[in-house]
Amino acid sequence: MLEIQCPYCDEKRPELEFSYAGEAHIVRPDAKEQAAMSDEDWAKYLFIRDNVRGEHAERWWHNAGCNMFFNAVRDTVTDKFVMTYKMGLPRRTPAQIEKARKAKS
Ligand SMILES: [Zn+2]
Repeated sequence: MLEIQCPYCDEKRPELEFSYAGEAHIVRPDAKEQAAMSDEDWAKYLFIRDNVRGEHAERWWHNAGCNMFFNAVRDTVTDKFVMTYKMGLPRRTPAQIEKARKAKS
């Protein structure tokens, strides 16, 4: 069974305790930005997401555990988690991802 490292519980837990919660690092425009957006730009914000082959930044929810949301980098080709990190931290750089990938192998 696939296990996912929860950065809040600080332990690996079975995948069944987690739910995918969409692409990470999507920032909601504030009210002023929303007012200035076209319908097309608003639709892009709401519905258009990256469809990456390889490392993808995702948001996950430990819904049957600590109930916290966190971010993860998952390889969509192998379905392996490269790293997980707490919400509010910036998008991981390619160097950080490579370092985490090497640490796992
Ligand atoms: Zn947790």
